Amino acid sequence: MAWFVNHYRCSRCDSTWEDEWSSCPEDECGECGSRHMDPFESEDVTIQIRDLDGGLCSILVSPATAEEDPEYEDMRGDDGEPLIFADRNAAVAYLVANADAIAAAREAAEDEAYG
Ligand SMILES: [Zn+2]
Repeated sequence: MAWFVNHYRCSRCDSTWEDEWSSCPEDECGECGSRHMDPFESEDVTIQIRDLDGGLCSILVSPATAEEDPEYEDMRGDDGEPLIFADRNAAVAYLVANADAIAAAREAAEDEAYG
């Protein structure tokens, strides 16, 4: 599972809303009750950079098993300790450099969780 912030706009009354979920489902308009609205935009927020004290950053990741909540956890290094970065740029650079490995690890975890 990934984690998404889904943005909706009602095609009948033009109201907008957003909802967080582990997929990009249709939703119902809270204003007029119109159903089957598809999100016009979905942000993948599976991985988030978190600001820590002193300008440091860590990386939060929604585990493959998250369904009802993102259940964010610190991304950990090979030593099992949470990864801490000097700033957001360093965290972004790490994510870019390790994108393939992170994606492969998530895929493996999802296979394990869902078969
Ligand atoms: Zn509506």
